[in-house]
Amino acid sequence: MVVVMAPDATAEDVAHVVERVESVGGQAFVSQGVDRTIIGLIGDVDSFHGLNLRAMAGVAGVHRISDPFKLVSRQHHPDRSVVRVGKPGAQVSIGPETFTLIAGPCAVESAEQTSEAATMAKAAGAAMIRGGAFKPRTSPYAFQGLGVEGLEILARVGEDVGLPVVTEVVDARDVPMVCEYADMLQIGTRNMGNFGLLQAVGEVDKPVLLKRGMTATIEEWLMAAEYVAQRGNLEIVLCERGIRTHEPATRNTLDISAVPVVQADSHLPVIVDPSHAAGRRDLVVPLSRAAIGVGSDGVIVDVHPDPEVALCDGPQALHGTDLRALAQAVRQLPPMVGRSPAAPA
Ligand code: PEP
Ligand code: MN
Repeated sequence: MVVVMAPDATAEDVAHVVERVESVGGQAFVSQGVDRTIIGLIGDVDSFHGLNLRAMAGVAGVHRISDPFKLVSRQHHPDRSVVRVGKPGAQVSIGPETFTLIAGPCAVESAEQTSEAATMAKAAGAAMIRGGAFKPRTSPYAFQGLGVEGLEILARVGEDVGLPVVTEVVDARDVPMVCEYADMLQIGTRNMGNFGLLQAVGEVDKPVLLKRGMTATIEEWLMAAEYVAQRGNLEIVLCERGIRTHEPATRNTLDISAVPVVQADSHLPVIVDPSHAAGRRDLVVPLSRAAIGVGSDGVIVDVHPDPEVALCDGPQALHGTDLRALAQAVRQLPPMVGRSPAAPA
């Protein structure tokens, strides 16, 4: 941390800051410039926060140099992590060497629909299947998901197609139950700041797919990941799914630059959800290509055997020609950026 003193700060003000820093075991290095004095602090940043240095006489500003997140930061873990999902022997690796396609229905609606969507996903090159059983909808009148029945269907379909499954958990009390069915727990955009839920998934032995809150900064998103990691679970994959902006042409604005920004700041894998970002089928393949090009570790997309009758997010679900175009993109483009398409081990 660096304390910048105001131009009119006195020698006593500077001495007082040094004294406070040393009182909590820190070291303070004073550097006197022509106009201003700067004090560099070395020691436990958390204990410096308690000093309320910003409020002291003569202090113009206090600036952090290291990341506020620690466990997920790349500063302390320079190698990018690989997160393994699924049962031993059939695991999928999400990380810097591979490109992972996750696909499936937005919501599990029935055994037939989920099975057909999973078969389509696998044929397109998916290494994992997605499907929501608990749907946190904007409207309380919209389809809320099949709940436990949906989890049973998803787990069975995953076994049938031989791929791990990811599904959303919306309530901390449901975490142990969802763990019985899912290979990976998804935290949706609306729950990124639900710290009780983040802590609950931090305490179980399942990888977590943490979506970015639709109004969250990258730092807030990484702090949410830190909540999970701090409880002991470092098997976290981040997912950029678009943020709220003034632009109404797409449901959200895909923040594609978040991918390399996150990869510079955190060792965690990061994937992109172009379906929920755009809300439009015609943009899913172009945005998936962009995700591959920018260095994303994967994409997660909605597919549906009959999008016109989908109970959730039909307008963005891929089928037919679009799905074939996606399959071609995930086969051809990752090798051009030094990755192999991920397949179950
Ligand atoms: C989803 O993936 O099913 C979903 C609801 O996404 P998000 O939380 O990003 O809106
Ligand atoms: Mn959806």
